[in-house]
Amino acid sequence: MQALAERIESYVGGATFTGYEPLQFSALKTFDPAPEALKGRTLERTSRRGKYVMLHFGDVKIAFHLSQGGRVDFEEPPKKTNKAKGYVVRWKFDNNRAVLLKEFGTERKAGWWVLAEDDIGPMDGLGPEPGSKEFEDLIRTGQDSRRIHTILRDQRTVAGIGRGYSDDALHAAKISPFASLKSMKADDRERLLQAIEETLANGLEIERKRTGGLPTKVGDHWVVHHEHGKPCPVCGDDLRRVSYESHEVTYCPTCQTGGKILADRRMSRLIR
Ligand SMILES: [Zn+2]
Repeated sequence: MQALAERIESYVGGATFTGYEPLQFSALKTFDPAPEALKGRTLERTSRRGKYVMLHFGDVKIAFHLSQGGRVDFEEPPKKTNKAKGYVVRWKFDNNRAVLLKEFGTERKAGWWVLAEDDIGPMDGLGPEPGSKEFEDLIRTGQDSRRIHTILRDQRTVAGIGRGYSDDALHAAKISPFASLKSMKADDRERLLQAIEETLANGLEIERKRTGGLPTKVGDHWVVHHEHGKPCPVCGDDLRRVSYESHEVTYCPTCQTGGKILADRRMSRLIR
């Protein structure tokens, strides 16, 4: 999302907002200020908070969230097709360019907000960002008894890591996804901090090499995430997964759990 925010800024930064085409009406989550208030305003900069990207137009801003199936297209000139499946909204600018938000799948969770510059809207309650002092304190001293993988994915505890980077960071730190933060020793915590920092920095470096919007295939650069069944790049053991309704956690038993196989609902259902 950080790299996407940067690309949007270089694509339409400094251009004037000329209008928008609401292609999926329920995606706009606010009514005041109205999106019409953006017309004639210059896109000054973009930013990111958690998984939200913000486009700043003076004292008004757009925030958007792609959810799992959301994508972004850059268009020059803006296309006229409005009926394609999954279109959410098109924002048009006076440099003959447009940014199109799309969503694949039926979840309809992608959304956008028009907010006063000082209104944090849906970002209210997000946890600290990795790299911040607050985040370091949380990892160094936190007594949260939930599983560390749950903590890292919970946007209200830590903003902006997500599933893929959580899997990869825990693997790099050689920490079990089921370990609790509370139970971690000081050196585990330091290793985890460093692993998160490096994993996110590597990810950003790779994502910065993209051009255009955000394609259908993202996150193709994971080290262990979604790679279950393949050999661990560190020790060669088979990577394993724990499956949940909407996601899965990938880990290496040798590197992370002292050889222990973590309980997987899918597995136990098969055995039963
Ligand atoms: Zn391994």
